[in-house]
Amino acid sequence: MLRIGAHTSIAGGIDNAVDEQIEYGGNCGQIFTHSPQVWQDPDVGDEEAERFRETAAEHDIGPWVIHSSYLVNLCTPKEGLREKSIVSMQAELDAASTLGVPYVNVHLGAHTGAGVEGGLDNAASALEELEVPDDVTVLVESDAGGGTKLGSSFEELAGVLDRCSIELDVCLDTAHLFAAGYDLSTPAGVEETFAAFDETIGRERLECVHLNDSKHACGTNKDEHAHVGEGLIGDEGMAAFINHDAVADVPLVLETPTEDGKSYAWNVERVRELADR
Ligand SMILES: [Zn+2]
Ligand SMILES: [Zn+2]
Repeated sequence: MLRIGAHTSIAGGIDNAVDEQIEYGGNCGQIFTHSPQVWQDPDVGDEEAERFRETAAEHDIGPWVIHSSYLVNLCTPKEGLREKSIVSMQAELDAASTLGVPYVNVHLGAHTGAGVEGGLDNAASALEELEVPDDVTVLVESDAGGGTKLGSSFEELAGVLDRCSIELDVCLDTAHLFAAGYDLSTPAGVEETFAAFDETIGRERLECVHLNDSKHACGTNKDEHAHVGEGLIGDEGMAAFINHDAVADVPLVLETPTEDGKSYAWNVERVRELADR
């Protein structure tokens, strides 16, 4: 069954995210538990958590993902930032467990001088400090790269997975992959990308996809999302990706633009049109 949904706002209460998802026609989704640009603890009330769980179950909308704060940097060599990142991640994990959300998604961050190996060591040791609830899994997200940010290649993602003893899986973002140099604009490119993923990481560890087209060319490391089919990945690449065996049972979450007329509902519908299932 096709699982397609959007990143939804929690304005007015976390439970509102489910109502919003219903409006978009989605059947899975993602939330921030607070503004992702600031250090702030998720504030999940018991009543809204219960209503979130109940409404999501009643309408069969799931799985959900919590996207962690953009300030989190697991690769950092700076002790203060590392501590804040761990505390923030722990709070997201606990909130996820309260909400019945199975995944917390995180970007590895930037090594800012620690070097690639040093940065991956830092990320792995930070993740090891987390007390991950039994019903939640941390997903490391593929990054667009640029600067000293890590996680833009399958090798770097595998570098963290291999270093960690905690259960860790992967979220791929199509716009980020494209920006990082994986050419998803043709069926052959999609095939090649999944072959590389299978070899380096293994598709059993792919638990979520952020399905976004890209406003910038392949390999530019520029992270700007476009509507499905309307960016440089295009309809052909998007269709090949959506219909690839590797994502047959993987939830697809849209993070497409919201300010330029086309809505999440439009993108959900577009994905359903492109999908064979
Ligand atoms: Zn992300
Ligand atoms: Zn992005």
